[in-house]
Amino acid sequence: MKAAVYYGKEDIRIESVSEPELDPGEVLLEIDSCCVCGTDLRTYRHGDKKIAPPRVLGHEFCARVLASRDAGSASVKVGNRVVMYIVIPCGTCRYCRSGRVNLCTGRTTMSYHHDGAFAPRMKVPATAVERGHLFPITAEIPSEYMGLSEPLGCVINAHGRLGIGLHDTVAVIGAGPIGIMHAAVSRLQGAQKVWVLDRLPRRLERARSFDIDGTIPVDAEGTHLAQIQELTDGLGPSVVIVACSNANAQADALEIPGKGARVEFFGGLPKSAPTACLNTNHLHYKELTVTGSYSEKMSDFQAAQALIQSGRFPADRIITHTLPLHRLNDAFPLMESGDALKVCIRPGT
Ligand SMILES: [Zn+2]
Ligand SMILES: [Zn+2]
Repeated sequence: MKAAVYYGKEDIRIESVSEPELDPGEVLLEIDSCCVCGTDLRTYRHGDKKIAPPRVLGHEFCARVLASRDAGSASVKVGNRVVMYIVIPCGTCRYCRSGRVNLCTGRTTMSYHHDGAFAPRMKVPATAVERGHLFPITAEIPSEYMGLSEPLGCVINAHGRLGIGLHDTVAVIGAGPIGIMHAAVSRLQGAQKVWVLDRLPRRLERARSFDIDGTIPVDAEGTHLAQIQELTDGLGPSVVIVACSNANAQADALEIPGKGARVEFFGGLPKSAPTACLNTNHLHYKELTVTGSYSEKMSDFQAAQALIQSGRFPADRIITHTLPLHRLNDAFPLMESGDALKVCIRPGT
């Protein structure tokens, strides 16, 4: 079969690989669709020490169960359409024992340690099958939309600690797919107002097609800081979410909020420049609560796939491009320019 194989920085080749062979307990999936993640883009541009090439990338997938060597523990059967919780935690470390399996020190992940879904077929490790990582899809909903369960689960993990509700006004910095998902979840949580900030006008224009209260252009002069104050009676929003890998955005995230606000640092900074210059007086005088979040727990993924299956999540407008597998490398410039929000790959084409 033809798969997209990662060999290193800016080197992903579409080439023939051998068909996956199942060991006892494993399940074979036929991949229907797999969205391109921001981390795939980062891996393509900068490489990733956690990935030992050659490796098939792709972890935001929706598939059909093609074959199974599972003895009966799996909750899915051959023919079922499924999505997968892709983090495989060790189950025994301190973090696993306290329920924070996303922070597991011995975790493995699909497309990092096991071949992923930029291929027509992919096998699921026995541990994941046994622990119920495959979730059947019962709704009539396109596979591309269901592939968003993985990034949406990461967003829901962050919202678990933000606790947004009817009292909140929310500013999301970054109008990429993750920022849009944060805005959509904030709205579903009941936020009074949701604004989205970005530097790129075309991204802001697209953001306005979602159920938000407005967009604010970010500029070097800082007029966005004054604009958000104006919109919140001079006080600042009660929640700020940084959904981009940018040190200035992180600094803004402490300038913008009102007193007693919650601030979420969702994205990390590039490993080559991981430091931001932050005015920590804001933490002190405004009594801010700052959280970070990484990956997702199985309960977040469960909630994400259920939300997409419900049809109440705007997945249709988040997927802007669908490409065949051999055009995977074209997805990266589309994502960087802001032309695409989310690109979906069809590995069977
Ligand atoms: Zn992802
Ligand atoms: Zn663990």
